[in-house]
Amino acid sequence: MGKKILLVASEIAPLVKTGGLADVAGALPKELKKLGHDIRLIMPEYSQIPQHFKEKIEHVCYFYVNVGWRREYVGLNKIEIDGIIVYLVDSKKYFERESLYENSDKHIQFTLFSRAVLECLPKIEFKPDVIHCNDWQTGLIPMFLKENYKQYDFFSHIKTVYTIHNLQYQGQFGKDVLSDVLAIPTDFQPHIIGDHVNFMRLGIIYADKITTVSPTYAEEILSYHFGEGLDWLLNIRRGDVSGIVNGIDTDVFNPSLDKELFQNYSLDTFKDRVINKTALQEKLGLNVDATIPMIGMITRLADQKGLDLIEHVLYEVQHTDVQLVVLGSGDQHYVNMFEELANVRPRQVSISVKFDSELAKQIYAGSDFFLMPSRFEPCGLGQLLAMRYGAVPIVRETGGLKDTVFSYDDHTREGNGFSFSNYNAHDMLHTIERAIHYYRMYPDIIDLLRKRGMAKDYSWTESAKAYESLYNHI
Ligand code: ADP
Repeated sequence: MGKKILLVASEIAPLVKTGGLADVAGALPKELKKLGHDIRLIMPEYSQIPQHFKEKIEHVCYFYVNVGWRREYVGLNKIEIDGIIVYLVDSKKYFERESLYENSDKHIQFTLFSRAVLECLPKIEFKPDVIHCNDWQTGLIPMFLKENYKQYDFFSHIKTVYTIHNLQYQGQFGKDVLSDVLAIPTDFQPHIIGDHVNFMRLGIIYADKITTVSPTYAEEILSYHFGEGLDWLLNIRRGDVSGIVNGIDTDVFNPSLDKELFQNYSLDTFKDRVINKTALQEKLGLNVDATIPMIGMITRLADQKGLDLIEHVLYEVQHTDVQLVVLGSGDQHYVNMFEELANVRPRQVSISVKFDSELAKQIYAGSDFFLMPSRFEPCGLGQLLAMRYGAVPIVRETGGLKDTVFSYDDHTREGNGFSFSNYNAHDMLHTIERAIHYYRMYPDIIDLLRKRGMAKDYSWTESAKAYESLYNHI
């Protein structure tokens, strides 16, 4: 039977995107709708939402929410995207900001948002069977629901799922937040609260079920090494923790239809990719030469992504006959590192420091290889998108990368990419060299890997069924 589901996220593609969370929140609902569920979404109404969407936003209602001693006005608006209603929590005071997440009052922003999510439900007469929360920004919702709302008939049967997209970002604040923002007495359940107020920890404690975005990451976070200080808690709740690998939106990412590509291609015409490669070389000022292997990277420039491994072998990379095309923003240290490299080797290395969805697709479509040497990777969408576009992934075996990329095996001829297991710069370099060796000496094998990647179904069909089964069994 169809369920009523409210998916709550701090970013949803195509309205606002800074990373994989938005992709997931944009694509999974479409598949759940196909399965017959009444799925609706809710997120903050940031000023960053593009104008052409803003024009389609309709007003629904307004109300006031309490955030500690504050009483704040909130508007509820909505927009329909692909037949799915996305509610938008409108507070100019809190969501008209330069940055989505880098605000000093982010604990207030997302407390206000979480309260508004629960407060709006009776007003729109939508009583979900399940509220599906995502990441620290929504971690308070299961707690508010159980502590403050469950006694009311309307809320008494609502269950919660809490999905961890990245355990590293927890939303940790000082203890003063308890009384000042959450309106909870300072002596409230000290064993639950701990030394800090940690939104993700509260989500894990209070949610009915906890998921993360790949089976391997679900195992890894139970260990001290990957647990980010919460492994003990996840172990207590391990019976309720599961991993469901992300899919990708195969309508939005489709090399045979994308308008942003220089040349469309499909599995049958995959050799046409080379037109994208040379056009990209031209666009980025690299040597225009179809025979030079090109490695793409599209990534947040953060420690998680294994960029220090590249830093260790910069000299070797410069002296390898390979082009490196990087698109990303973040940590200034890595911006400088790539910029210096690109200055020394302008025809060999390109770095674009921005968020650019069009260039991203052109890189997926033009690169021969796609490098993700992550220190840890909850799921990773880059490698899935790369394979969809026929770029062969080179990854470290961790989290979702381990679940989706299988290193080519010479004997069995199985595999869909290249991988290494230890977090070690020379292991990475060796794996890159191995990939280039095949590129030069056995191009038919690289073609085989490209075709395998392109042929595989990375859509949400299977994973949406896994979420459906979770909602049903909660
Ligand atoms: P994470 O969520 O950890 O950042 P994922 O691999 O799960 O990493 O998802 C990243 C998503 O964001 C992918 O869709 C990727 O193409 C996109 N992306 C990352 N950086 C950029 C950028 N600078 N410009 C365009 N798209 C980007």
